[in-house]
Amino acid sequence: MLELALTGAATLAAACAAGYQSMAPTGQWYGKTFTGLARVSKKIALTYDDGPNDIITERLLEVLARHNVRATFFLIGRYVRQRPQIARAIAASGHLIGNHTMTHPWLAWQSTARVRQELADCNAILEDTLGAPVRYFRAPHGARRPAVLRIARSLGLTPVQWNIIAKDWLPVGAEAIEARVVRGITRNQQQNRASNIVLHDGGQAGLGQPRLPTVEATNLLLNKYGPRTETKFVTVDSWVQ
Ligand SMILES: [Zn+2]
Repeated sequence: MLELALTGAATLAAACAAGYQSMAPTGQWYGKTFTGLARVSKKIALTYDDGPNDIITERLLEVLARHNVRATFFLIGRYVRQRPQIARAIAASGHLIGNHTMTHPWLAWQSTARVRQELADCNAILEDTLGAPVRYFRAPHGARRPAVLRIARSLGLTPVQWNIIAKDWLPVGAEAIEARVVRGITRNQQQNRASNIVLHDGGQAGLGQPRLPTVEATNLLLNKYGPRTETKFVTVDSWVQ
């Protein structure tokens, strides 16, 4: 009985760990996933998920242009189909665009056929819209498993996670978002790590998500880590080869 209980506990521990690894942004069990763990603590990648999103994405592009900073955008394919002009405006501004699936499902729980379809469809609409190949992928919710990473790589995509999450999908103000990001950057810099920050200019629930606080928080961050600091803003391709 004791043996069974121990086996059960061990199995449970393994299952919990596997569950953690499938979700943890910095977990590496399921294949190497870029998080910013390089010794480049003054480098920051601003990344934005779940766009394109009317007005918000355009406002964000204005803020980034004002500060002459390039960012990375992981776009949802079905929104790109509805708003191709915004996707093209992102690319025309010099930002890096990545695949965030066609419809934003939890990929860890989908069949391999569905995973492949989600990634391939998003690649196709992005490449049709932008006229350039897509090389980076971020899993919705960070949820992944070995098959997801394998399929992504088979489609020529490098999976990208994050190491700072601002929880800007919650109803919080710009200052709260900025404060959370600054705490993360400070922690990373103390550990000599670069910062790979996930923010949201859109939302999985549909177009028109209210993300102005994220735009304002971006402006605050760019003021704080401005050109007179040693900070260098980069897109994720500067780290991943
Ligand atoms: Zn997302």
